[in-house]
Amino acid sequence: MEQATLPKLSYEYNALEPYYDAQTIEIHHSKHHAGYVKGFNNAQEKLAQARESNDYTLIKHYEHELAFHGAGHRLHSLFWENMRAGKDVNEPSEQLKQKLANSFGSYEAFVAQFKKATATVEGSGWGALVSHDDGSMHILAIHNHQNAFIPGCKVLLVCDVWEHAYYLKFQNKRAEWINSFMHIINWDVVEQRL
Ligand code: FE
Repeated sequence: MEQATLPKLSYEYNALEPYYDAQTIEIHHSKHHAGYVKGFNNAQEKLAQARESNDYTLIKHYEHELAFHGAGHRLHSLFWENMRAGKDVNEPSEQLKQKLANSFGSYEAFVAQFKKATATVEGSGWGALVSHDDGSMHILAIHNHQNAFIPGCKVLLVCDVWEHAYYLKFQNKRAEWINSFMHIINWDVVEQRL
């Protein structure tokens, strides 16, 4: 990844109403995600300066910044793309349901585990559906943006449960945000990633 830029959303800020409110999306995208883009680019610049001057005094700090902001940027980019206008009944294709059943026993069991794992992320983090090279899938509860992650797996679906992602509308009711999120998952994108 070279210099990062804030991706433009493929929909308007109010496109996911009433499941995800326009004000939260606007602040989330234009302030929070933009902050990760800036932090990632800054870390890259500082590491380049360290190489030039051969001064690695702050190496631990900037390696952390690189991973934190770089992962934040990547996860938010995936997050915006894995949502679309809401549907009362929003389920994956029969084919994807079968693949989820292969890993989780049933589609319903996947939903239950995904919601619970995401709701119980300690502090700030993400619920994620990931796949491995053999097509098998796991649900991960990622801490911050970069911890409790399995290297090499492909991220199919992420739900942001940092407070900035839902607090304006849902306050402390994280589980309600996750229920709402289930209505705006773009399952076509999840299937394409797989
Ligand atoms: Fe976020």
